[in-house]
Amino acid sequence: MFNALVLNQEEGKTVSAVSQLELTDLPQEDVLVKVDYSSLNYKDGLAITGKGKIIRNFPMVPGIDLVGTVEESADSRYKSGDKVVLTGWGVGENYWGGYSQYARLKADWLVPLPENMDPVRTMQIGTAGLTAMLCVMALEEGGVTPDKGPIIVSGAAGGVGSVAVSLLSGLGYQVTAITGRPETADYLKSLGASEIVTREEMAEPARPLEKQRWAGAVDTVGDNILGRILAETDYNGVVAACGLAASFKLPTTVMPFILRNVRLQGVDSVMCPVERRQEAWQRLAKQLPDDAVGEIAQLIGLDELADYAERITNGQVKGRVVVDLN
Ligand code: NDP
Repeated sequence: MFNALVLNQEEGKTVSAVSQLELTDLPQEDVLVKVDYSSLNYKDGLAITGKGKIIRNFPMVPGIDLVGTVEESADSRYKSGDKVVLTGWGVGENYWGGYSQYARLKADWLVPLPENMDPVRTMQIGTAGLTAMLCVMALEEGGVTPDKGPIIVSGAAGGVGSVAVSLLSGLGYQVTAITGRPETADYLKSLGASEIVTREEMAEPARPLEKQRWAGAVDTVGDNILGRILAETDYNGVVAACGLAASFKLPTTVMPFILRNVRLQGVDSVMCPVERRQEAWQRLAKQLPDDAVGEIAQLIGLDELADYAERITNGQVKGRVVVDLN
């Protein structure tokens, strides 16, 4: 018997409970993994609370991230004892996920754990950190180098935002952080932000073009803030958009694109091809400072997930949350 967080629907509402399962309850997939750690992302919060239509089939074990050790594998790429990491692919949404001491998974979804990564650090990074790295790569591929000017990061005290601030600052970029929580200013500065701007200021509806302020941006929130960032982005700048913590709307005009050559680059981590994931994980292993990761993350147990899920969907979680399944 082992423990898992299981979601069910009762009278149209999503309910979660820590339940005892047996290995025979798990879906039939190639690789049996003993899960060591998982993490909490915004999407997990939406799934557990039922605030977002993330889960369509119940019962479901949520958890879009996991790191663990292979126990049995019917696929020749993996053998007992291998350390593996999984993020995305619809796991924890359409397939049983990481909030479980054991999981059966497709070999295609797994990435071998980079040699210099320990399991806790891997989940301190998780989907949020992987996404932050993919955003940084999008800026680099658009020609935004540190000498081009400051980068603005929205939802900066959240998971994706915190890792993005730390990564960008470590790579030599000047970083401005947008936060709705002024009390996180010292935290954001310790991660490397040189300037803090308020969410209220950035959420003011923008004119089609505003004064140019940013060489690039990582946006995790959407809506008016993304609209304002686009209107304030420099000629040839790149905006990497990955999230919708404010909303899925995007009030903007074509002006930044046709008059300032601004590029809006969408970033998805869920279906990101394996080679690009591996590159991103290798870079995270080398380029995300250890002390920053320690500062960003906290550790919780399965029984605390329901409470933390509520908090993350209300924008009340700082940095990253790691879930201990040992
Ligand atoms: P978090 O909840 O950790 O961070 C979101 C942050 O956004 C909050 O901490 C808060 O930051 C800010 N925020 C919250 N509500 C609002 C609001 N109403 N208006 C403006 N800002 C707000 O979530 P994650 O970091 O895990 O995820 C961030 C976003 O990125 C989510 O929308 C998520 O779905 C998306 N995402 C997308 C991925 C992809 O593959 N495209 C992968 C991972 C995440 P502060 O307090 O500093 O203002």
